[in-house]
Amino acid sequence: MQAFRFKACNRGITYVKEEAVGIEMDGDRATVVMLKEGGRVTCGVVVNGAGAKAAEIVAMAKIELPVRPRRRTTFYNLCSTPLPRCPMVIESFGVAGLHFRPEGNGYRRHSAADSRGSRRDRS
Ligand SMILES: Cc1cc2nc3c(=O)[nH]c(=O)nc-3n(C[C@H](O)[C@H](O)[C@H](O)COP(=O)(O)OP(=O)(O)OC[C@H]3O[C@@H](n4cnc5c(N)ncnc54)[C@H](O)[C@@H]3O)c2cc1C
Repeated sequence: MQAFRFKACNRGITYVKEEAVGIEMDGDRATVVMLKEGGRVTCGVVVNGAGAKAAEIVAMAKIELPVRPRRRTTFYNLCSTPLPRCPMVIESFGVAGLHFRPEGNGYRRHSAADSRGSRRDRS
């Protein structure tokens, strides 16, 4: 990402590190992004790259987007039985999801909390 930003700045874009707090609309077109420190960026198009906060950005334009941040948990495990040439393993069934991959001498495992906030996997 740093490389993309560096190259874009070299090619003449202006990089502003600020928080977007509002969007002015003209009908269904975004025309201005308002910044927390009081600045205003006039625009023809807004690209929403706010990741897990993407819904907050489009809400400024009175649009509802079903993107919500979800709590995830990361564990680091050693394994008494080596798993030679273990790839990244992704279990994408169900709501929770789980994946793990080798890292160092062990395995890094990520899992999502379910809607009640408890872990679904019991390993
Ligand atoms: C602990 C962890 C480990 C991960 N490991 C991996 C991995 O090994 N491999 C992998 O491929 N992916 C990994 N991911 C996932 C990866 O980080 C994300 O998928 C990716 O960063 C999403 O990119 P994005 O550009 O959509 O959003 P983000 O990287 O979240 O970028 C969104 C940006 O928008 C900015 N922003 C939000 N709101 C505003 C606002 N109002 N005004 C201005 N800016 C705003 C934020 O500050 C942020 O800089 C990991 C994630 C986590 C949390």
